[in-house]
Amino acid sequence: MQPIASIFPLLNQPKKVVITTHQKPDGDAMGSSLALYHLLVQLGHSVTVISPTNWASFLNWMPSSKEVLDFERQTEKSTTFINEADWLFCLDFNTLSRTKNMEDVLLKAKGDRVLIDHHREPQTEVFTYGVSDTSKSSTAEMVYDFICKSGNNEKITPDIASCLYAGVMTDTGSFRFPSTTASVHRMVAELKDKGLVHSSIHEELYDNFLENRFRFIGNILTNRMEVLYEYNTALIAIPQADLIKYDVKVGDTEGLVNYPLSIKGIKLAVIIIDRGEERKSSFRSKGDFDVNTFARKYFNGGGHYNAAGGFNKETLEEVVVKLKVAIKENAEQLSS
Ligand code: 5GP
Ligand code: MN
Repeated sequence: MQPIASIFPLLNQPKKVVITTHQKPDGDAMGSSLALYHLLVQLGHSVTVISPTNWASFLNWMPSSKEVLDFERQTEKSTTFINEADWLFCLDFNTLSRTKNMEDVLLKAKGDRVLIDHHREPQTEVFTYGVSDTSKSSTAEMVYDFICKSGNNEKITPDIASCLYAGVMTDTGSFRFPSTTASVHRMVAELKDKGLVHSSIHEELYDNFLENRFRFIGNILTNRMEVLYEYNTALIAIPQADLIKYDVKVGDTEGLVNYPLSIKGIKLAVIIIDRGEERKSSFRSKGDFDVNTFARKYFNGGGHYNAAGGFNKETLEEVVVKLKVAIKENAEQLSS
């Protein structure tokens, strides 16, 4: 993988570009992709953003989100764009498997794959160009760096600023995680100077839920949460029946793993959701417990040191048992 700066001199030649990100894109995935989209369109490229799957409706306020293709629903059209692209920007994921059914199509594409990502252990051999930096708060921050380092700072519009802000804000837990460096705050100051209205973005993302989501949260906190004080761990296991009963939509479960993490003394919070086709888990930790390694070892997943995810094919009950065994195996680190 050559340094991403190698493509800076090529940015002024019009190209066919595809931008993609991980399945079920979150605020950072969608925000960084659309920010880059708006920049590259201004530079005269022909650009298509393709998501491997659908996404949460609370991201639909993002400028040009309506142009984003859903690979699962528009497979043929998306495949044509991917096959014809000169550049395939891969944002906010480290391995092509994170694009689910798109993996093979991306691998076979003739264009150059370009990585911009902050997850550990990137699959560098499949990218022609790229930047991987696990110290970065978000991929949005990295797209901001890309824009500035390629000399396009003056092209940051309020639309680009909104997308970048949404990405960095959601990936830093509203600027609370240790990854929130002074540079992150400097970037936000710069975005404010470019016309960012941050308060409306918080409203779009956090004040737009329906009543059923709160009834659902009440239910899971009362009936589905278990606190294992001995291991400073809290877990929530959600059966599929709950998702159906409360009409839970994509995105309604995002961030719920943070509730048990705010219980005093809790170092590890886990949520396991039975999504039918698989059991999806999210892990969050405080301090020196590495959930990236934990998710990799037991749950076919990965992510960051303090935030990771994974999935299993076993039943929900079996995954809970597996988790409890894993917790016991890590008792020394968790109990201290
Ligand atoms: P979340 O819990 O919000 O789904 O994900 C937290 C972090 O873990 C994100 O940075 C995400 O990219 C990563 N992650 C989530 N699920 C998976 C997975 O199945 N595999 C891998 N490798 N990473 C994941
Ligand atoms: Mn991210």
